[in-house]
Amino acid sequence: MRRLTALLLATCLPLTAAAQDAASEATRTAQAELAKRLPLDDPRDMANATRGKLAEIPGGVILTKDGKTVWDRRPYEFLSRTEAPDTVNPSLWRQARLDAVHGLFEAVPGKIWQIRGYDISVMTIIRGKSGWIVVDPLLSEEAAAAGWKLFADTVETKSGKLPIKAVIFSHSHSDHFGGVGGIVTPEQVKKDKIRIIAPHGFSEEATSENVLAGGAMGRRAVYMFGSILAPGPAGQVDTGLGPKLSTGTIGYMEPTETVSEKGGTLTIDGLAFDFLDAGGTEAPSEFVFYIPAYKALHTTEVVTHTLHNVLTLRGAQVRDALRWSKVIDAALQKWGGKAEVALASHHWPTWGVGEVSSLLTNQRDAYRYVHDRTLFLANRGATLHELADATAEAPVQGRDFSTRGYYGTLNHDMKATYQRYFGWWDGNPANFNPIPPEQSAPKYVALAGGADKLLAAGKKAIAAGEYRWAAELLNKLVFAEPQNEAAKAALASAYDQLGYQAESGAWRNYYLAAAATLRGKAVEATSGNGQSRSFVSAIPTAVFFDALATRFDAAKGAGISGTFQFVLPDSKEAVAISVGGGVEFPRYGVTDPAPTATITIDRKTLDDVMLGQAQFPALLQSGAIRIDGDRMAFLSWFALHPPADPRFNIVVP
Ligand SMILES: [Zn+2]
Repeated sequence: MRRLTALLLATCLPLTAAAQDAASEATRTAQAELAKRLPLDDPRDMANATRGKLAEIPGGVILTKDGKTVWDRRPYEFLSRTEAPDTVNPSLWRQARLDAVHGLFEAVPGKIWQIRGYDISVMTIIRGKSGWIVVDPLLSEEAAAAGWKLFADTVETKSGKLPIKAVIFSHSHSDHFGGVGGIVTPEQVKKDKIRIIAPHGFSEEATSENVLAGGAMGRRAVYMFGSILAPGPAGQVDTGLGPKLSTGTIGYMEPTETVSEKGGTLTIDGLAFDFLDAGGTEAPSEFVFYIPAYKALHTTEVVTHTLHNVLTLRGAQVRDALRWSKVIDAALQKWGGKAEVALASHHWPTWGVGEVSSLLTNQRDAYRYVHDRTLFLANRGATLHELADATAEAPVQGRDFSTRGYYGTLNHDMKATYQRYFGWWDGNPANFNPIPPEQSAPKYVALAGGADKLLAAGKKAIAAGEYRWAAELLNKLVFAEPQNEAAKAALASAYDQLGYQAESGAWRNYYLAAAATLRGKAVEATSGNGQSRSFVSAIPTAVFFDALATRFDAAKGAGISGTFQFVLPDSKEAVAISVGGGVEFPRYGVTDPAPTATITIDRKTLDDVMLGQAQFPALLQSGAIRIDGDRMAFLSWFALHPPADPRFNIVVP
């Protein structure tokens, strides 16, 4: 999970029962067959998820200072039922119930605690020699502060109040550092010399990874996390990785030290930590670690209780399943047979030397299977949709719930692995340069004999339980005739059933959000996680100007040329942007000898603009921005960076 969630919105509108379909006969049969095949009543995971529970936040409600809801478990009361409703995949239902367990938990008596169920992620607190070491302080400051208060009120009342000595960011995704401001302030870090420890490359990745493509990723993430769905048996139940995203303030703090790719041992508050580099697996900057004194392994997000994403549905650069499996094997070789508990950045711990070793073995094999099975089939001519369809389940997935596709899936991870090696094209020239969907759709409708016939064929496919085929047919009709309400309603019905049957929370959310959109029932994004100044100000200036260049309207600006020199007095930075031929090219650290215009603006003022706390015209008027040279040339160039509509269409043209 990544920081672009900052762009997300969580406004919900209940789906009316009349608008949404009930589970069909075909869906009920599919759910029943899966339920029969899997040992869903295996009690071990629930025993681990509830083990060592000490306290909870009443109702699971977290509010901001001004009363805005950051977290609320109460609408999820429907998950208390053991048996899955027929509108939820029974295996996902099991996972959602495990993720719904919330509170403060003692993982290693007197040594390690976890805050779980108050964000998509988990915060771990470790007893050092003289104080606390906090690992992964959640996504939002409000959730982290509430979790810390629960810990302090419960544990510190017995142990006495101790200082926070160190914070560990296990990897570069914001659900593991965004809440840091909720447990320590920058002043405390400085004054008390609190260590902030992260893997190498952390700062660059944490603040840049999703800036350039953040707009589209944010839009797709709204679907993937189901933020536009109401909680309920026919709506949002879980993400597979955790319940949902908290909706508070995402902040940032710069690490005071990093662990190199060689790993090695660090003594933190008197306690030895052995690190293993895991960069390039689930995150570009990531490590796992072992605490020998407590026989505790922190597997970060490399090993969790799901098959993770080799490529997340919201979009990202593709990850490496082969390296992923090798890092898990390295951890298994180092600490298998020693570790008595495995804790992670999501989900519940696994206790027992044998259990930890089998968890690592099975997880390793799952990623290895994704990789090798993809290439086995690809090297025999299968292309991405063919190879995914040919492989319903890895053998290990039938044995170990932790390897099942609750968040990532074998299906889309294999497609991603194909993409990693071969790209988006399947090698068939018919698919190399097809005409775009909006142009081909009317031709398909005509070929089918008109809209009514295509609609009838789509409905026939739905009646036969062939929802994937129905979606393909009806999507053509919706793209040809976006005002065709009967077509949209039928397509929504197909998406309902695909969503109900999905074992992955991400797939379910995406299908159901698509159905809600087609019915006009999804309230679109209007507000989201607030990005704090600490986060925005950490975005490197070079990345900021690269992001600006991606907003340049090259079609309108093809005739413009010139050089615009930015001078940032407070950060002592300079960026020269040369514009011409429909391209703008920012050169960081360069001062042009004869620019068209020179723009003097503090980096802090740029942050104000990004945070929406200042507007360009007012800044020009107040003198916070100074323009020397050709002012008109600057203003007409700058006007060619229109904001993108964050609510662009996905399921209709
Ligand atoms: Zn995460």
